[in-house]
Amino acid sequence: MTAVTKAVCGHPEISQALLGGGVSGLADARIENVERMRQAGIRAPIALLRPPTPSQASRVVEHCTTSYNTELDTIDTLARAAQRMGRVHDVILMVELGDMREGILPVDLLRAARAVVKMPGVALTGIGANFACLGGIAPTAEKMTELAALAAEVERVCGQELRTVSGGNSTSLPWAFSHAQATPINNLRLGEAILLGINPLSGCQIDGMFTDAFSLVVDVIESKIKPGDLTGSKKPTGMPINAVFSGHRRAWQAILAIGNQDTDLGGLTFPEGLSSLGGTSDQLVVETSGLDLPIGSEVVLKPDYNALMRAMNAPGVAKVLHNRRPWASDARVGRRRPDLVLV
Ligand SMILES: *Cc1c(COP(=O)(O)O)cnc(C)c1O
Repeated sequence: MTAVTKAVCGHPEISQALLGGGVSGLADARIENVERMRQAGIRAPIALLRPPTPSQASRVVEHCTTSYNTELDTIDTLARAAQRMGRVHDVILMVELGDMREGILPVDLLRAARAVVKMPGVALTGIGANFACLGGIAPTAEKMTELAALAAEVERVCGQELRTVSGGNSTSLPWAFSHAQATPINNLRLGEAILLGINPLSGCQIDGMFTDAFSLVVDVIESKIKPGDLTGSKKPTGMPINAVFSGHRRAWQAILAIGNQDTDLGGLTFPEGLSSLGGTSDQLVVETSGLDLPIGSEVVLKPDYNALMRAMNAPGVAKVLHNRRPWASDARVGRRRPDLVLV
């Protein structure tokens, strides 16, 4: 199990908690997040999930144990950077199985694998696939069988075993739970499942997981009854429609000090009695159904994965950890602690 830290932007303490929970390594989409974890003293294996840009090659070799790749030119740049630094960088080739985001076409995989094996400075350590991100292709048993067969082909053609056969993201968990034995697929890259306890395909809670590890706490900055007859003329066409007003009627409404700049306003769940009327870059207007929301009081919202990711990346949103554990910079990979609390 590789824990994916991109939604928390490589937040060091959260990453540390993931390692404490027993994952075999971390992965992030951005080199900046990896560097943040390294600077904080995290020494566990970290993989770069998004194929690197060639201009980042030496940073990737320096800080990432492994990177997921789809382009031989980029791998060549990584290999040369690794040679200059006297290192060997691990490469996992992503194969396209229908999601139509990153991936080498299956027909080109063996040629690419052979080319990587021949390059000094890099080692081919695995193949992987991604599902249900762009094209919404679900990780079915057939897709997994296809991935396993490709892995076997690569091993045969390259004459070496692959350490990692990575079967996808959180959406692959139901498959993994039902096919625990008898598969060469030995890795999943999990973000949403661990952080939010949600299966992204069904939107349902995963058995035994918490869905409230993260809360977005926002301040009330206005609270008024607004009449329904002040709206005046319609806004000029072409103006982005941020607000969906439910007709011209008198409404209790409050403004929360958060906006599109801080999070994904469409990805928030509101407490009982509150509903969104619309939002702009810096303000979120909610209907309060008569609930008393005094100025300066706080409203607790539940972010989905995208809302969480943007909030974690927003400088204006303070990140407050609860149940903080002592920092154990020597936390070894795979060591289990019974009392994992994320935040
Ligand atoms: C983001 C990402 C993941 C993790 O996805 P979750 O749905 O959060 O589990 C895994 N693999 C790749 C390539 C990713 O970009």
